[in-house]
Amino acid sequence: MRGKLVVGNWKMNGNMLQNQQLLDAIVPEIKTLGNMASAVCVPYPYLVMTQKVLQSTKIAWGAQNVSPYDLGAYTGEVAAEMLVDLGCYYVIVGHSERRALFGEDNQTVALKFKKAQSVGLIPILCVGETLAQREVGETERVIAEQLDTVVNLVSIDAFAKAVIAYEPVWAIGTGKTASPDQAQHVHAFIRNRLASHNAELASKIQILYGGSVKSNNAANLFSMPDIDGGLIGGASLIASEFISICKAAQC
Ligand code: PEP
Repeated sequence: MRGKLVVGNWKMNGNMLQNQQLLDAIVPEIKTLGNMASAVCVPYPYLVMTQKVLQSTKIAWGAQNVSPYDLGAYTGEVAAEMLVDLGCYYVIVGHSERRALFGEDNQTVALKFKKAQSVGLIPILCVGETLAQREVGETERVIAEQLDTVVNLVSIDAFAKAVIAYEPVWAIGTGKTASPDQAQHVHAFIRNRLASHNAELASKIQILYGGSVKSNNAANLFSMPDIDGGLIGGASLIASEFISICKAAQC
């Protein structure tokens, strides 16, 4: 049985004081929750403080990006090995902001996925279509290509230790959420596509929904059969919102 997972993506927000306050507020509340798992993916400079605060809690932590390269002369990059050193469990790869603003194509995302797994990190692979792609009926084609590029590089077996996040680009940070039915349709498509390679693996993989999830829509989204939790951007910066979303994921 797949458990529910809620992951906060802080994006490029926060400072030492705000982060401390946010973590101090969520830790005692999330401690009381059962039947769900949670994590926060924080900016690189705050991984040390996050590790310090969360290491004896049940909240995992991770990064929002990773270099596809091995340790070496890559100025400004952060290696997967370093994330392991800082106790990370997850790393987000292929977030739409990285695809759109930093030119990451499907192949680069696949290389990051592979590198993350090679050191034992769990990649959270983000896939999703733009509004223009949805409007011309390209949603499934786009998502199939995003998934298949990774499957072709690492093989389907690698997905046994990965999480997928369906994040329609038009819903990220816009306040527009996919309806539970719209999201479920794409989640089922993703699961079926993986099932065409390995049905058992596909039935076990967690597929999160991301895109303007808030406390007032989380429960409806999480009640859908193929939605296994959420990747939460803006609402993960507000302690009460993040806690409520985590509560909605309890089953
Ligand atoms: C995200 O950053 O992955 C995200 C889904 O953002 P938001 O919840 O703000 O739409």
